[in-house]
Amino acid sequence: MDSQNFADRLRNSLEGDRIKLLRLVAEEATERGLPLYIVGGSVRDLALGRPLNDFDLTVEGGAIALARALANKHGGGVTAHLKFGTAKWFLPKALKADHDTLDLISARSETYRHPAALPTVQSGTLEDDLRRRDFTVNAMAIRLDGSHFGELRDDLGGMDDLQKGIIRVLHPRSFIDDPTRMYRAVRYEVRYGFKIAGDTLSLVPEARQYVEKLSAQRIRHELDLILDEPNAVPMLKRLDERDLLACIHPVLANFGQSNLATLQSDDPALLTRNSRWALWLMHLSDQDIEFLNDRLHFRADLLKILRSVALLETNLTTVVGLKPSEAVEVLESYSFKGLEVFSAALPEGEIKNILSQYLTDWWAVKPRTTGHDLKKRGIPPGPKYNEILRRLRAAWLDGEVKTEEEEKQLLDSIL
Ligand code: ATP
Ligand code: MG
Repeated sequence: MDSQNFADRLRNSLEGDRIKLLRLVAEEATERGLPLYIVGGSVRDLALGRPLNDFDLTVEGGAIALARALANKHGGGVTAHLKFGTAKWFLPKALKADHDTLDLISARSETYRHPAALPTVQSGTLEDDLRRRDFTVNAMAIRLDGSHFGELRDDLGGMDDLQKGIIRVLHPRSFIDDPTRMYRAVRYEVRYGFKIAGDTLSLVPEARQYVEKLSAQRIRHELDLILDEPNAVPMLKRLDERDLLACIHPVLANFGQSNLATLQSDDPALLTRNSRWALWLMHLSDQDIEFLNDRLHFRADLLKILRSVALLETNLTTVVGLKPSEAVEVLESYSFKGLEVFSAALPEGEIKNILSQYLTDWWAVKPRTTGHDLKKRGIPPGPKYNEILRRLRAAWLDGEVKTEEEEKQLLDSIL
């Protein structure tokens, strides 16, 4: 693809505000003689003709200076990390659209002192910056300044691999330096229907042992990204086939028992990241969830859902045959999201019926009487209030009262 082609695609893929912003940055870079590039995944997606959500900008020699010059000219503020040569431009009102900020990164090289360590960063050329990346298809850049607008930089054979549909690392130590790349490789492989190059795949067995050195946050982030993908299920399967789940934690191996069909559902309630985690892990026992949490350090809200779902399997049989008010009492002790996920995965039957009623109607049932009303009737505030209101709610749930009038009569009789 020639530079005219990239220039056109770029103009067409970004909505007005974003391309306007890009032009301002490119003008400033031109004035200062700073080579400016769009790099990484956005180049890949442009070449594939896929929609571009955003872009990453790299400046050869001076992202911070460029950001400050832009803020001086157009307004807004800048925060900079001198050590990493990165700057964030807080956009002035006139330039804000979908985004409030624009990141500018100086081209850099990265080295790894230990397997799975965070890299040591040094400023470098664009070529260095391309070489630090994960795969050839993610290691291309398009130049934006001056007459260079639209020029492709493809030092590492990215376009060739993109055309052939190949995911290939840039050097043999790549997965050892950063084992998260093995998960990224599978994500791109399945997302684009590509193949991982044979040489690259043969690096997995040696690198697998370093997965345990990754922090909880880093490995969890990769799994988050996978669960966010519409094709999460085939991605997880592929990871399992390559023994890349068991090395995170043994309880993740053989995940065939988990609820894959539901993980592919397009029910909006099941599309959030937390629901997808819960659907994936719902076959695990509460004990396994605790083991896994020791490795992955789930966020508190997700952990609550996972614990609920793990317990539901065994505990939920008790709601069969209960009065609605009694069932509600049991169900209220579980996370709502957890119940939603669990219910979606259940086969048709009595338990599913009870759960559906709870999730659609029962949970929201409230008596008309409030604490305020009780006070007006001269009852001294205290734990009694809760007791009375619960009694009234139970009467609604169980169909003992059906109108406000009947509720009043019941209240009178209680009082
Ligand atoms: P996606 O469409 O999933 O966002 P992306 O390519 O934009 O894909 P990002 O995670 O946004 O991926 O990262 C942007 C770029 O940074 C990548 O294209 C790649 O060049 C580089 N990169 C990201 N993660 C790594 C990594 N672990 N090792 C090396 N390079 C990486
Ligand atoms: Mg991206």
